[in-house]
Amino acid sequence: MIEVCQLEKTGFEREVLAAHAGQPRVVHRPRSTEEVQALVQGARARKVALHPLSTGLNWGYGTPSDVPVGVELIDLSGMNRILNADEISESNPVALIEPGVTQGQLADFLQARQPRLMFNVTGSARQTSLIGNALDRGVGYLGPRREDLFGLEVVTGAGTVIKTGFRRLGDESPLAHCHPFGLGPMLDGLFFQANLGIVTSACFRLIPRPPRQIAVSLALLNERDLPRFIAVLASLKRERIMGTVTHIGNRARTRASLMHGIVRYLEAQPGSASRDLMAEAERVLEIVAPDQWTSLGGISGTPGQVRAAFSEVRSRMRGIARVMSIDDAKLDFGYALLNAFRFIPWARANAAAIAAIRPLHGLASGHPTDAAIDNLLWKFGRADLSAASLGQTDCGILFISPALPMDGVFVAKVVAEMTARASKFGHQLYVTINIETENSMVAVTNLLFDRSDEAARANAAACANELHDLIRAYGLEVYRARMDMMNKIVEPDSEYWKTIQQLKSVFDPDHVISPGHYNIAA
Ligand SMILES: Cc1cc2nc3c(=O)[nH]c(=O)nc-3n(C[C@H](O)[C@H](O)[C@H](O)COP(=O)(O)OP(=O)(O)OC[C@H]3O[C@@H](n4cnc5c(N)ncnc54)[C@H](O)[C@@H]3O)c2cc1C
Repeated sequence: MIEVCQLEKTGFEREVLAAHAGQPRVVHRPRSTEEVQALVQGARARKVALHPLSTGLNWGYGTPSDVPVGVELIDLSGMNRILNADEISESNPVALIEPGVTQGQLADFLQARQPRLMFNVTGSARQTSLIGNALDRGVGYLGPRREDLFGLEVVTGAGTVIKTGFRRLGDESPLAHCHPFGLGPMLDGLFFQANLGIVTSACFRLIPRPPRQIAVSLALLNERDLPRFIAVLASLKRERIMGTVTHIGNRARTRASLMHGIVRYLEAQPGSASRDLMAEAERVLEIVAPDQWTSLGGISGTPGQVRAAFSEVRSRMRGIARVMSIDDAKLDFGYALLNAFRFIPWARANAAAIAAIRPLHGLASGHPTDAAIDNLLWKFGRADLSAASLGQTDCGILFISPALPMDGVFVAKVVAEMTARASKFGHQLYVTINIETENSMVAVTNLLFDRSDEAARANAAACANELHDLIRAYGLEVYRARMDMMNKIVEPDSEYWKTIQQLKSVFDPDHVISPGHYNIAA
């Protein structure tokens, strides 16, 4: 069960070699809760530390390469069973999953077995996990994944196994997989963005497919109106008129999201070899995405509810944004028509845009896609690789994502200042403002750089650091921290972090799990 190997054999090779060239690393690949428990008990006896990974694809926040040398990895991707596969139904919409279950796997399973059920998917790759993502408080298109996960089975750092909520009554209890709270203090929160235990299974919420779903695409008419645009979108979220996470992307983000799909469409056209496709793609973007800020949200419900909600969105956005509804039928029809007339530049541009939008449109309907990662692979010259191999490329990515209050004026100011600060480092900041909850949002911002270039790496790190300082100067904090930020976000003198440290001594007295990860380092 315990392997000592050169990293070339782990599947994480390039990630780790980039940071710790040639360092051997111990990687454990347990297959059951009992094996995880034995590993933790063994680590206590051997006085070594362990870091758990569900699928290890937390690009931009911390992949295996960021785990300190000497800490052994627990790769849980082989624990990938949907434990209650035969009991899942429309009247029992909960999947009991192990950490290695990926969003692609669950989507394929539901498609085959329960097509009327869906779940909250993220914009990351199909091979990313549900549990690791939720534990790092990732965000899907329908909301924070934190809300989807409950009833955890955890091997604590003390080597004991506990089950939270009503799973403590035993998995046979009728309450075990349906009641998210249990009785008494709720322990679940202690294992999110934490280092107190290793989650070995959990309940994951599934959602009945609504009778009708549309995506709503909005383009801000005048950049000056960004605060108002955000405020109106916020009110639509609060009033549950647009229930999904509304994404508001800046021009850099929108263009980056569409470019690869557009080029792929143009490449497939006759005579493409003799044309300058990049220049043509730029012209397409000028036609289909000329705006500084665009937004994508979703409406679902009965056909009548969807019609009424969409008309409300249009009326509130009058004079602020161009509004368009998108559904599969429209995309099919639009594509067929425009593609037929692709000899006309405007039609070709719009057919290319539909080809690029198509996979992204499916996200709000619960269809995960590799499109966002494929974009990066293509940008860094490795379109030949599969999405899960992003770590093998020169793509450097750092997320600096502040949590924000629902205040359009304030948010626009912070984002403008972050963008200006990044440009001083020669960086274009990719920004998506996500309206996540009724009262708060986050700006997911990232830097992209060539990580094979030492100067580019240092510059990006300095820029990310300064952006974090800027966020803090506003009294804000990131909603999710990169592994390299732990020293900065954890303040040893604060009562809050001291309390977390005391909890560590209860749940993990020998500090065997991810030392210093969202906690004061021992
Ligand atoms: C282009 C792009 C788009 C992205 N889009 C999104 C998005 O829409 N939403 C989003 O949230 N993220 C997004 N990401 C970030 C990231 O890829 C995802 O969050 C991904 O799901 C995280 O990787 P993972 O699932 O493999 O988790 P892991 O890397 O396995 O886990 C994440 C962390 O959680 C902890 N952990 C994992 N498993 C356990 C366990 N069993 N017990 C205890 N602790 C554990 C560990 O500390 C680990 O470091 C994106 C990244 C890129 C590059």
